[in-house]
Amino acid sequence: MEAFYNKARQAYVEWSALELSKRLGYLRRLRHVIVDNLDRIVDEIQSSTGKTPVEALTADIFTVLDGIYHLEKHTARALKTQKVPTPVVLMGKRSYIEYRPRGVVLIIAPWNFPFQLSLLPTLTAIAAGNTVILKPSEITPRVGDLIIDLMEKAGFPRCVVQVVQGGKEVGAALVEGRPDYIFFTGSVQTGKLIQAKAAENLIPTTLELGGKDPMIVCADANIARAVAGALWGGFNNCGQVCMSVERLLVHNDIYTTFVDQLVQQVGELTQGVGCDADLGAMTHRGQAELVGAQIHDALKQGARLLTGLEPDKWNLEDSLAIAPMVLVNITPSMRIWHEETFGPVLPVMVYDDEKTAVALANDSNYGLNASVWSQDMKQAQRIASRLITGSVVINDVMISVANPNLPFGGVKESGLGRYHGDVGLQSFCHQTAVVVDRGRKTKELAWYPYAGKYEGFYQLSRGLFGRKPRAKQLGSAFLHFILRKHS
Ligand code: NAD
Repeated sequence: MEAFYNKARQAYVEWSALELSKRLGYLRRLRHVIVDNLDRIVDEIQSSTGKTPVEALTADIFTVLDGIYHLEKHTARALKTQKVPTPVVLMGKRSYIEYRPRGVVLIIAPWNFPFQLSLLPTLTAIAAGNTVILKPSEITPRVGDLIIDLMEKAGFPRCVVQVVQGGKEVGAALVEGRPDYIFFTGSVQTGKLIQAKAAENLIPTTLELGGKDPMIVCADANIARAVAGALWGGFNNCGQVCMSVERLLVHNDIYTTFVDQLVQQVGELTQGVGCDADLGAMTHRGQAELVGAQIHDALKQGARLLTGLEPDKWNLEDSLAIAPMVLVNITPSMRIWHEETFGPVLPVMVYDDEKTAVALANDSNYGLNASVWSQDMKQAQRIASRLITGSVVINDVMISVANPNLPFGGVKESGLGRYHGDVGLQSFCHQTAVVVDRGRKTKELAWYPYAGKYEGFYQLSRGLFGRKPRAKQLGSAFLHFILRKHS
Protein backbone atom coordinates (compact mmCIF):
# COMPACT_ATOMS: atom_id res chain seq x y z
CA MET A 1 0.00 0.00 0.00
CA GLU A 2 3.00 2.22 0.59
CA ALA A 3 3.41 2.79 -3.15
CA PHE A 4 -0.14 4.15 -3.44
CA TYR A 5 0.43 6.54 -0.54
CA ASN A 6 3.77 7.69 -1.92
CA LYS A 7 2.22 8.50 -5.28
CA ALA A 8 -0.75 10.23 -3.62
CA ARG A 9 1.60 12.36 -1.51
CA GLN A 10 3.67 13.33 -4.55
CA ALA A 11 0.54 14.25 -6.51
CA TYR A 12 -0.69 16.27 -3.52
CA VAL A 13 2.16 18.76 -3.80
CA GLU A 14 1.03 20.08 -7.17
CA TRP A 15 -2.69 19.43 -6.85
CA SER A 16 -3.08 21.30 -3.56
CA ALA A 17 -1.08 24.23 -4.95
CA LEU A 18 -3.21 24.47 -8.08
CA GLU A 19 -5.59 27.42 -8.24
CA LEU A 20 -9.10 26.40 -7.20
CA SER A 21 -10.56 27.49 -10.54
CA LYS A 22 -8.19 25.07 -12.31
CA ARG A 23 -9.11 22.20 -9.98
CA LEU A 24 -12.77 22.93 -10.61
CA GLY A 25 -12.07 23.01 -14.36
CA TYR A 26 -11.17 19.31 -14.15
CA LEU A 27 -14.43 18.63 -12.33
CA ARG A 28 -16.37 20.47 -15.02
CA ARG A 29 -14.68 18.38 -17.72
CA LEU A 30 -15.59 15.24 -15.80
CA ARG A 31 -19.23 16.40 -15.69
CA HIS A 32 -19.20 16.67 -19.47
CA VAL A 33 -17.51 13.28 -19.88
CA ILE A 34 -20.17 11.70 -17.67
CA VAL A 35 -22.97 13.25 -19.72
CA ASP A 36 -21.28 12.06 -22.93
CA ASN A 37 -21.16 8.51 -21.57
CA LEU A 38 -24.56 8.22 -19.90
CA ASP A 39 -25.66 5.00 -21.64
CA ARG A 40 -22.43 3.22 -20.90
CA ILE A 41 -22.49 4.27 -17.24
CA VAL A 42 -26.15 3.24 -16.80
CA ASP A 43 -25.35 -0.18 -18.35
CA GLU A 44 -22.34 -0.71 -16.10
CA ILE A 45 -24.16 0.28 -12.92
CA GLN A 46 -27.17 -1.82 -13.84
CA SER A 47 -25.22 -4.95 -14.69
CA SER A 48 -23.08 -4.57 -11.55
CA THR A 49 -25.97 -4.02 -9.13
CA GLY A 50 -29.24 -5.31 -10.61
CA LYS A 51 -30.93 -1.93 -10.15
CA THR A 52 -33.30 -0.50 -12.76
CA PRO A 53 -32.03 1.90 -15.46
CA VAL A 54 -34.13 4.74 -14.00
CA GLU A 55 -32.52 4.22 -10.57
CA ALA A 56 -29.02 4.02 -12.07
CA LEU A 57 -29.66 7.27 -13.90
CA THR A 58 -31.34 9.21 -11.10
CA ALA A 59 -29.83 8.07 -7.81
CA ASP A 60 -26.32 7.26 -9.02
CA ILE A 61 -25.56 9.47 -12.02
CA PHE A 62 -27.84 12.52 -11.75
CA THR A 63 -26.81 12.97 -8.11
CA VAL A 64 -23.15 13.01 -9.10
CA LEU A 65 -23.76 15.53 -11.89
CA ASP A 66 -25.73 17.75 -9.54
CA GLY A 67 -23.01 17.35 -6.91
CA ILE A 68 -20.27 18.39 -9.35
CA TYR A 69 -22.31 21.39 -10.45
CA HIS A 70 -22.76 22.35 -6.80
CA LEU A 71 -19.01 22.05 -6.16
CA GLU A 72 -18.24 24.21 -9.19
CA LYS A 73 -20.55 26.92 -7.88
CA HIS A 74 -19.95 26.80 -4.14
CA THR A 75 -16.44 25.56 -3.35
CA ALA A 76 -14.82 28.99 -3.57
CA ARG A 77 -17.33 30.49 -1.12
CA ALA A 78 -17.35 27.56 1.30
CA LEU A 79 -13.54 27.41 1.52
CA LYS A 80 -12.89 31.14 1.40
CA THR A 81 -10.71 32.50 4.17
CA GLN A 82 -13.16 33.64 6.80
CA LYS A 83 -12.58 36.80 8.83
CA VAL A 84 -13.77 36.61 12.44
CA PRO A 85 -14.05 39.34 15.11
CA THR A 86 -11.12 39.87 17.47
CA PRO A 87 -11.98 40.59 21.13
CA VAL A 88 -11.07 43.81 22.86
CA VAL A 89 -8.26 42.22 24.89
CA LEU A 90 -6.52 41.39 21.61
CA MET A 91 -6.92 44.96 20.39
CA GLY A 92 -4.85 45.85 17.35
CA LYS A 93 -4.80 42.33 15.92
CA ARG A 94 -6.97 40.62 13.31
CA SER A 95 -8.15 37.04 13.10
CA TYR A 96 -9.28 34.69 10.34
CA ILE A 97 -9.82 31.01 9.52
CA GLU A 98 -8.14 29.32 6.59
CA TYR A 99 -9.40 26.08 5.06
CA ARG A 100 -6.44 24.00 3.99
CA PRO A 101 -6.58 20.51 2.46
CA ARG A 102 -5.84 17.64 4.80
CA GLY A 103 -3.51 15.68 2.48
CA VAL A 104 -4.27 12.15 1.31
CA VAL A 105 -7.87 11.06 1.89
CA LEU A 106 -8.83 7.39 1.94
CA ILE A 107 -12.36 6.80 0.67
CA ILE A 108 -13.93 3.39 1.23
CA ALA A 109 -17.23 2.84 -0.56
CA PRO A 110 -20.13 0.36 -0.48
CA TRP A 111 -21.93 -1.39 -3.35
CA ASN A 112 -25.50 -0.06 -3.17
CA PHE A 113 -24.80 3.23 -5.00
CA PRO A 114 -21.35 2.34 -6.28
CA PHE A 115 -20.99 5.33 -8.60
CA GLN A 116 -22.42 8.05 -6.38
CA LEU A 117 -20.96 6.94 -3.06
CA SER A 118 -17.48 6.56 -4.58
CA LEU A 119 -17.42 9.65 -6.74
CA LEU A 120 -19.15 12.31 -4.66
CA PRO A 121 -16.86 12.13 -1.62
CA THR A 122 -13.88 11.72 -3.96
CA LEU A 123 -14.74 14.85 -5.91
CA THR A 124 -15.50 16.85 -2.79
CA ALA A 125 -12.12 15.85 -1.34
CA ILE A 126 -10.18 16.76 -4.47
CA ALA A 127 -12.09 20.02 -4.98
CA ALA A 128 -10.77 20.98 -1.53
CA GLY A 129 -7.21 20.22 -2.71
CA ASN A 130 -6.64 16.72 -1.33
CA THR A 131 -5.57 13.68 -3.29
CA VAL A 132 -7.59 10.49 -2.91
CA ILE A 133 -7.15 6.76 -2.65
CA LEU A 134 -10.52 5.19 -3.42
CA LYS A 135 -11.41 1.63 -2.54
CA PRO A 136 -14.69 0.68 -4.18
CA SER A 137 -16.70 -2.29 -2.93
CA GLU A 138 -15.40 -5.69 -3.98
CA ILE A 139 -19.00 -6.45 -5.01
CA THR A 140 -19.04 -3.76 -7.70
CA PRO A 141 -15.39 -3.48 -8.86
CA ARG A 142 -16.25 -2.71 -12.49
CA VAL A 143 -17.84 0.57 -11.42
CA GLY A 144 -14.53 1.43 -9.76
CA ASP A 145 -12.70 0.74 -13.04
CA LEU A 146 -15.26 2.85 -14.86
CA ILE A 147 -14.67 5.78 -12.51
CA ILE A 148 -10.94 5.82 -13.15
CA ASP A 149 -11.53 5.55 -16.89
CA LEU A 150 -13.89 8.56 -16.83
CA MET A 151 -11.39 10.55 -14.79
CA GLU A 152 -8.64 9.75 -17.30
CA LYS A 153 -10.93 10.89 -20.11
CA ALA A 154 -11.46 14.16 -18.20
CA GLY A 155 -7.69 14.61 -18.14
CA PHE A 156 -7.07 14.60 -14.36
CA PRO A 157 -3.35 14.64 -13.50
CA ARG A 158 -1.91 11.25 -12.58
CA CYS A 159 -2.52 9.94 -9.07
CA VAL A 160 -4.80 12.76 -7.93
CA VAL A 161 -7.24 9.86 -7.60
CA GLN A 162 -6.09 6.24 -7.44
CA VAL A 163 -8.54 3.35 -7.36
CA VAL A 164 -7.40 0.34 -5.35
CA GLN A 165 -9.56 -2.73 -5.85
CA GLY A 166 -10.10 -5.46 -3.27
CA GLY A 167 -12.08 -6.64 -0.31
CA LYS A 168 -11.95 -5.99 3.40
CA GLU A 169 -8.29 -7.03 3.72
CA VAL A 170 -7.32 -4.38 1.17
CA GLY A 171 -9.52 -1.84 2.98
CA ALA A 172 -7.88 -2.70 6.30
CA ALA A 173 -4.37 -2.46 4.80
CA LEU A 174 -5.20 0.96 3.36
CA VAL A 175 -6.37 2.15 6.78
CA GLU A 176 -3.04 0.89 8.20
CA GLY A 177 -1.26 3.01 5.56
CA ARG A 178 -2.00 6.13 7.62
CA PRO A 179 -4.06 8.40 5.38
CA ASP A 180 -4.63 11.94 6.63
CA TYR A 181 -8.40 11.42 6.65
CA ILE A 182 -10.79 8.52 6.19
CA PHE A 183 -14.20 8.87 4.62
CA PHE A 184 -16.08 5.60 5.03
CA THR A 185 -19.53 4.61 3.82
CA GLY A 186 -20.77 1.17 4.81
CA SER A 187 -22.07 -0.92 7.66
CA VAL A 188 -21.98 -0.04 11.36
CA GLN A 189 -19.87 -3.11 12.03
CA THR A 190 -17.13 -2.09 9.58
CA GLY A 191 -17.41 1.56 10.65
CA LYS A 192 -16.58 0.59 14.23
CA LEU A 193 -13.56 -1.45 13.11
CA ILE A 194 -12.26 1.42 10.99
CA GLN A 195 -12.86 3.96 13.75
CA ALA A 196 -10.94 1.80 16.24
CA LYS A 197 -8.00 1.41 13.84
CA ALA A 198 -8.04 5.11 12.95
CA ALA A 199 -8.00 6.02 16.64
CA GLU A 200 -4.64 4.25 17.09
CA ASN A 201 -3.07 6.96 14.93
CA LEU A 202 -5.65 9.66 15.70
CA ILE A 203 -6.74 9.77 12.07
CA PRO A 204 -9.94 11.80 11.74
CA THR A 205 -12.89 10.16 10.01
CA THR A 206 -16.32 10.68 8.57
CA LEU A 207 -18.49 7.58 8.95
CA GLU A 208 -21.66 7.27 6.86
CA LEU A 209 -23.31 4.13 8.21
CA GLY A 210 -26.62 2.31 8.23
CA GLY A 211 -30.17 3.30 9.03
CA LYS A 212 -33.54 1.95 10.13
CA ASP A 213 -35.59 4.92 9.08
CA PRO A 214 -39.08 5.47 10.47
CA MET A 215 -41.97 6.89 8.47
CA ILE A 216 -44.77 8.28 10.63
CA VAL A 217 -48.14 8.64 8.91
CA CYS A 218 -50.55 10.82 10.91
CA ALA A 219 -54.33 10.45 10.87
CA ASP A 220 -54.75 13.56 8.70
CA ALA A 221 -52.12 12.62 6.11
CA ASN A 222 -52.84 12.72 2.40
CA ILE A 223 -53.23 8.94 2.28
CA ALA A 224 -52.74 8.51 -1.47
CA ARG A 225 -49.46 10.46 -1.32
CA ALA A 226 -48.27 8.69 1.82
CA VAL A 227 -48.96 5.26 0.27
CA ALA A 228 -47.10 6.20 -2.92
CA GLY A 229 -44.25 7.65 -0.80
CA ALA A 230 -44.02 4.52 1.34
CA LEU A 231 -43.81 2.36 -1.78
CA TRP A 232 -41.01 4.40 -3.29
CA GLY A 233 -39.23 4.91 0.02
CA GLY A 234 -39.39 1.23 0.91
CA PHE A 235 -38.68 -0.42 -2.43
CA ASN A 236 -36.40 2.05 -4.21
CA ASN A 237 -33.17 0.29 -5.22
CA CYS A 238 -34.90 -2.92 -4.06
CA GLY A 239 -34.78 -1.55 -0.52
CA GLN A 240 -30.98 -1.39 -0.54
CA VAL A 241 -30.77 2.24 0.51
CA CYS A 242 -29.31 3.41 3.81
CA MET A 243 -32.23 5.85 4.08
CA SER A 244 -35.03 3.61 2.85
CA VAL A 245 -38.25 3.42 4.85
CA GLU A 246 -37.71 0.47 7.16
CA ARG A 247 -40.30 1.10 9.88
CA LEU A 248 -43.70 2.28 8.80
CA LEU A 249 -45.86 3.69 11.63
CA VAL A 250 -49.47 4.36 10.66
CA HIS A 251 -52.14 5.99 12.83
CA ASN A 252 -54.95 3.71 13.93
CA ASP A 253 -57.67 5.86 12.32
CA ILE A 254 -56.34 5.29 8.81
CA TYR A 255 -54.42 2.04 9.27
CA THR A 256 -56.84 -0.27 7.41
CA THR A 257 -57.37 2.10 4.48
CA PHE A 258 -53.64 2.76 4.26
CA VAL A 259 -52.64 -0.90 4.29
CA ASP A 260 -55.33 -1.87 1.75
CA GLN A 261 -54.09 0.80 -0.65
CA LEU A 262 -50.48 -0.17 -0.03
CA VAL A 263 -51.15 -3.82 -0.87
CA GLN A 264 -53.10 -2.90 -3.96
CA GLN A 265 -50.31 -0.64 -5.24
CA VAL A 266 -47.59 -3.18 -4.56
CA GLY A 267 -49.52 -5.42 -6.95
CA GLU A 268 -49.18 -2.77 -9.64
CA LEU A 269 -45.39 -2.50 -9.45
CA THR A 270 -43.35 -4.08 -12.23
CA GLN A 271 -40.07 -5.86 -11.58
CA GLY A 272 -37.45 -6.36 -14.28
CA VAL A 273 -34.49 -4.89 -16.12
CA GLY A 274 -36.07 -2.63 -18.75
CA CYS A 275 -36.32 1.15 -18.72
CA ASP A 276 -39.92 0.97 -17.49
CA ALA A 277 -39.31 -1.46 -14.62
CA ASP A 278 -40.07 -0.14 -11.12
CA LEU A 279 -38.04 -2.66 -9.15
CA GLY A 280 -34.82 -4.40 -10.06
CA ALA A 281 -33.09 -7.18 -8.17
CA MET A 282 -31.03 -7.48 -5.02
CA THR A 283 -27.34 -6.95 -5.73
CA HIS A 284 -25.89 -10.03 -4.05
CA ARG A 285 -27.06 -13.29 -2.63
CA GLY A 286 -25.62 -12.82 0.85
CA GLN A 287 -27.77 -9.73 1.34
CA ALA A 288 -30.88 -11.55 0.05
CA GLU A 289 -30.25 -14.38 2.53
CA LEU A 290 -29.96 -11.88 5.37
CA VAL A 291 -33.32 -10.37 4.43
CA GLY A 292 -34.77 -13.90 4.30
CA ALA A 293 -33.51 -14.64 7.82
CA GLN A 294 -35.19 -11.49 9.18
CA ILE A 295 -38.50 -12.36 7.46
CA HIS A 296 -38.29 -15.91 8.87
CA ASP A 297 -37.76 -14.54 12.37
CA ALA A 298 -40.74 -12.17 12.01
CA LEU A 299 -43.07 -14.86 10.64
CA LYS A 300 -42.05 -17.22 13.44
CA GLN A 301 -43.01 -14.52 15.96
CA GLY A 302 -46.45 -13.94 14.42
CA ALA A 303 -45.92 -11.39 11.64
CA ARG A 304 -48.01 -11.78 8.48
CA LEU A 305 -46.90 -11.25 4.87
CA LEU A 306 -49.53 -9.42 2.83
CA THR A 307 -47.51 -9.35 -0.39
CA GLY A 308 -44.47 -11.23 -1.69
CA LEU A 309 -43.34 -14.74 -0.87
CA GLU A 310 -42.09 -16.48 2.24
CA PRO A 311 -38.30 -16.96 2.01
CA ASP A 312 -38.71 -20.77 1.71
CA LYS A 313 -40.31 -20.14 -1.66
CA TRP A 314 -37.57 -17.87 -2.99
CA ASN A 315 -35.34 -19.33 -5.67
CA LEU A 316 -32.14 -17.36 -5.24
CA GLU A 317 -30.27 -19.71 -7.60
CA ASP A 318 -32.38 -18.40 -10.46
CA SER A 319 -33.01 -14.80 -9.52
CA LEU A 320 -32.32 -12.18 -6.89
CA ALA A 321 -35.42 -10.25 -7.93
CA ILE A 322 -37.27 -10.75 -4.65
CA ALA A 323 -40.90 -9.63 -4.82
CA PRO A 324 -41.70 -6.61 -2.62
CA MET A 325 -43.10 -7.53 0.79
CA VAL A 326 -45.57 -5.78 3.09
CA LEU A 327 -45.38 -7.23 6.56
CA VAL A 328 -47.91 -6.63 9.37
CA ASN A 329 -48.51 -7.82 12.96
CA ILE A 330 -45.08 -6.52 13.85
CA THR A 331 -43.70 -6.32 17.39
CA PRO A 332 -40.60 -4.33 18.40
CA SER A 333 -38.77 -7.50 19.44
CA MET A 334 -38.63 -8.77 15.85
CA ARG A 335 -35.30 -8.47 14.03
CA ILE A 336 -37.11 -6.88 11.08
CA TRP A 337 -38.08 -3.97 13.37
CA HIS A 338 -34.70 -3.14 14.83
CA GLU A 339 -31.96 -4.54 12.55
CA GLU A 340 -31.14 -2.83 9.27
CA THR A 341 -32.83 -4.86 6.52
CA PHE A 342 -31.53 -3.61 3.16
CA GLY A 343 -34.19 -5.40 1.11
CA PRO A 344 -37.67 -4.82 -0.38
CA VAL A 345 -39.67 -5.09 2.85
CA LEU A 346 -42.11 -2.65 4.46
CA PRO A 347 -42.91 -3.66 8.03
CA VAL A 348 -46.03 -1.77 9.14
CA MET A 349 -47.00 -1.04 12.73
CA VAL A 350 -50.12 0.73 13.98
CA TYR A 351 -49.98 3.50 16.62
CA ASP A 352 -52.61 5.39 18.62
CA ASP A 353 -51.06 8.70 19.66
CA GLU A 354 -48.24 11.06 18.75
CA LYS A 355 -46.20 10.34 21.86
CA THR A 356 -46.14 6.61 21.12
CA ALA A 357 -45.22 7.21 17.48
CA VAL A 358 -42.27 9.41 18.46
CA ALA A 359 -41.14 6.94 21.14
CA LEU A 360 -41.31 4.01 18.71
CA ALA A 361 -39.47 5.98 16.03
CA ASN A 362 -36.71 6.99 18.44
CA ASP A 363 -36.37 3.50 19.87
CA SER A 364 -33.51 2.52 17.58
CA ASN A 365 -29.72 2.38 17.57
CA TYR A 366 -29.87 4.21 14.26
CA GLY A 367 -30.72 7.82 13.37
CA LEU A 368 -30.07 8.52 9.70
CA ASN A 369 -33.31 9.83 8.19
CA ALA A 370 -37.03 9.88 8.99
CA SER A 371 -40.26 11.17 7.52
CA VAL A 372 -43.50 12.59 8.92
CA TRP A 373 -46.71 12.70 6.91
CA SER A 374 -49.48 15.12 7.87
CA GLN A 375 -51.42 18.00 6.31
CA ASP A 376 -51.12 19.97 9.54
CA MET A 377 -47.70 21.59 9.17
CA LYS A 378 -47.52 22.53 12.85
CA GLN A 379 -48.09 18.94 13.89
CA ALA A 380 -45.68 17.61 11.26
CA GLN A 381 -42.91 19.99 12.30
CA ARG A 382 -43.52 19.33 16.00
CA ILE A 383 -43.14 15.58 15.47
CA ALA A 384 -40.15 16.08 13.16
CA SER A 385 -38.35 18.17 15.76
CA ARG A 386 -38.74 15.39 18.33
CA LEU A 387 -37.09 12.73 16.22
CA ILE A 388 -33.49 11.85 16.97
CA THR A 389 -32.15 11.80 13.44
CA GLY A 390 -29.55 13.28 11.11
CA SER A 391 -32.27 14.42 8.70
CA VAL A 392 -36.03 14.43 8.44
CA VAL A 393 -38.44 15.04 5.60
CA ILE A 394 -42.07 16.14 5.82
CA ASN A 395 -44.54 14.63 3.33
CA ASP A 396 -41.72 13.12 1.26
CA VAL A 397 -39.00 10.52 1.77
CA MET A 398 -35.19 10.43 1.59
CA ILE A 399 -34.88 13.54 -0.58
CA SER A 400 -32.99 15.64 1.94
CA VAL A 401 -29.90 13.90 0.54
CA ALA A 402 -30.73 15.29 -2.91
CA ASN A 403 -30.21 18.89 -1.79
CA PRO A 404 -26.43 19.44 -1.92
CA ASN A 405 -26.83 22.54 0.26
CA LEU A 406 -27.92 20.42 3.21
CA PRO A 407 -25.45 18.57 5.41
CA PHE A 408 -25.86 14.80 5.22
CA GLY A 409 -25.07 12.27 7.94
CA GLY A 410 -26.43 10.31 10.84
CA VAL A 411 -26.70 10.39 14.61
CA LYS A 412 -26.29 7.47 17.05
CA GLU A 413 -24.90 4.44 15.19
CA SER A 414 -25.76 5.90 11.80
CA GLY A 415 -22.46 7.71 11.73
CA LEU A 416 -20.09 10.49 12.60
CA GLY A 417 -19.59 13.76 10.78
CA ARG A 418 -21.39 15.32 7.83
CA TYR A 419 -20.86 15.62 4.15
CA HIS A 420 -22.67 17.67 1.47
CA GLY A 421 -23.23 21.36 2.12
CA ASP A 422 -20.48 23.75 3.16
CA VAL A 423 -19.71 21.64 6.22
CA GLY A 424 -19.07 18.63 3.96
CA LEU A 425 -16.49 20.51 1.95
CA GLN A 426 -14.93 21.97 5.07
CA SER A 427 -14.65 18.52 6.65
CA PHE A 428 -12.04 17.66 4.01
CA CYS A 429 -9.95 20.59 5.28
CA HIS A 430 -7.98 21.57 8.32
CA GLN A 431 -9.43 24.72 9.80
CA THR A 432 -6.38 26.77 10.57
CA ALA A 433 -6.93 29.69 12.93
CA VAL A 434 -4.69 32.69 12.19
CA VAL A 435 -4.09 35.81 14.32
CA VAL A 436 -2.07 38.66 12.84
CA ASP A 437 -0.28 41.42 14.75
CA ARG A 438 1.63 44.06 12.79
CA GLY A 439 4.56 43.59 15.14
CA ARG A 440 5.24 47.25 15.99
CA LYS A 441 5.09 47.06 19.80
CA THR A 442 8.04 45.56 21.65
CA LYS A 443 5.89 43.61 24.06
CA GLU A 444 2.36 42.54 24.90
CA LEU A 445 0.77 43.32 28.24
CA ALA A 446 0.30 39.64 29.10
CA TRP A 447 3.97 38.77 28.43
CA TYR A 448 6.76 38.75 31.03
CA PRO A 449 7.49 40.27 33.42
CA TYR A 450 4.35 39.65 35.52
CA ALA A 451 5.53 41.77 38.42
CA GLY A 452 2.92 44.36 39.39
CA LYS A 453 0.31 43.19 36.85
CA TYR A 454 -1.90 41.03 39.06
CA GLU A 455 -4.11 43.87 40.31
CA GLY A 456 -4.67 45.20 36.80
CA PHE A 457 -5.79 41.81 35.44
CA TYR A 458 -7.92 41.28 38.53
CA GLN A 459 -9.86 44.48 37.89
CA LEU A 460 -10.04 43.74 34.18
CA SER A 461 -11.64 40.33 34.86
CA ARG A 462 -14.24 41.93 37.14
CA GLY A 463 -14.85 44.84 34.81
CA LEU A 464 -15.27 42.76 31.69
CA PHE A 465 -17.13 39.75 33.01
CA GLY A 466 -18.62 40.59 36.45
CA ARG A 467 -21.88 42.28 37.45
CA LYS A 468 -22.18 46.10 37.33
CA PRO A 469 -20.56 48.53 37.80
CA ARG A 470 -18.15 47.63 34.98
CA ALA A 471 -16.84 51.06 34.05
CA LYS A 472 -15.40 51.65 37.48
CA GLN A 473 -13.41 48.41 37.45
CA LEU A 474 -12.33 48.76 33.84
CA GLY A 475 -11.17 52.27 34.58
CA SER A 476 -9.28 51.02 37.59
CA ALA A 477 -7.62 48.27 35.52
CA PHE A 478 -6.52 50.67 32.78
CA LEU A 479 -5.29 53.18 35.37
CA HIS A 480 -3.30 50.44 37.02
CA PHE A 481 -1.62 49.38 33.75
CA ILE A 482 -0.96 53.00 32.71
CA LEU A 483 0.57 53.91 36.07
CA ARG A 484 2.68 50.74 35.93
CA LYS A 485 3.92 51.61 32.47
CA HIS A 486 5.05 55.04 33.54
CA SER A 487 6.44 54.10 36.94
P1 NAD B 1 -19.54 -3.00 4.38
O1 NAD B 1 -19.29 -2.35 5.67
O2 NAD B 1 -19.59 -4.49 4.35
O3 NAD B 1 -18.42 -2.61 3.31
C1 NAD B 1 -18.20 -1.28 2.93
C2 NAD B 1 -16.79 -1.13 2.41
O4 NAD B 1 -15.88 -1.37 3.47
C3 NAD B 1 -16.41 -2.11 1.32
O5 NAD B 1 -15.64 -1.45 0.36
C4 NAD B 1 -15.58 -3.15 2.06
O6 NAD B 1 -14.64 -3.82 1.25
C5 NAD B 1 -14.88 -2.30 3.09
N1 NAD B 1 -14.43 -3.01 4.29
C6 NAD B 1 -15.01 -4.08 4.90
N2 NAD B 1 -14.33 -4.41 6.02
C7 NAD B 1 -13.30 -3.53 6.14
C8 NAD B 1 -12.27 -3.33 7.09
N3 NAD B 1 -12.13 -4.10 8.15
N4 NAD B 1 -11.41 -2.31 6.89
C9 NAD B 1 -11.55 -1.47 5.83
N5 NAD B 1 -12.50 -1.62 4.88
C10 NAD B 1 -13.37 -2.63 5.03
O7 NAD B 1 -20.87 -2.37 3.81
P2 NAD B 1 -21.63 -2.73 2.46
O8 NAD B 1 -22.32 -4.04 2.64
O9 NAD B 1 -20.72 -2.57 1.29
O10 NAD B 1 -22.69 -1.56 2.39
C11 NAD B 1 -23.92 -1.62 3.00
C12 NAD B 1 -23.94 -0.75 4.24
O11 NAD B 1 -23.59 0.58 3.90
C13 NAD B 1 -25.32 -0.66 4.87
O12 NAD B 1 -25.21 -0.77 6.25
C14 NAD B 1 -25.77 0.73 4.48
O13 NAD B 1 -26.74 1.28 5.34
C15 NAD B 1 -24.50 1.49 4.52
N6 NAD B 1 -24.61 2.70 3.71
C16 NAD B 1 -24.61 3.90 4.35
C17 NAD B 1 -24.76 5.07 3.61
C18 NAD B 1 -24.75 6.42 4.27
O14 NAD B 1 -24.51 7.39 3.57
N7 NAD B 1 -24.99 6.54 5.56
C19 NAD B 1 -24.92 5.00 2.24
C20 NAD B 1 -24.94 3.76 1.64
C21 NAD B 1 -24.76 2.61 2.39
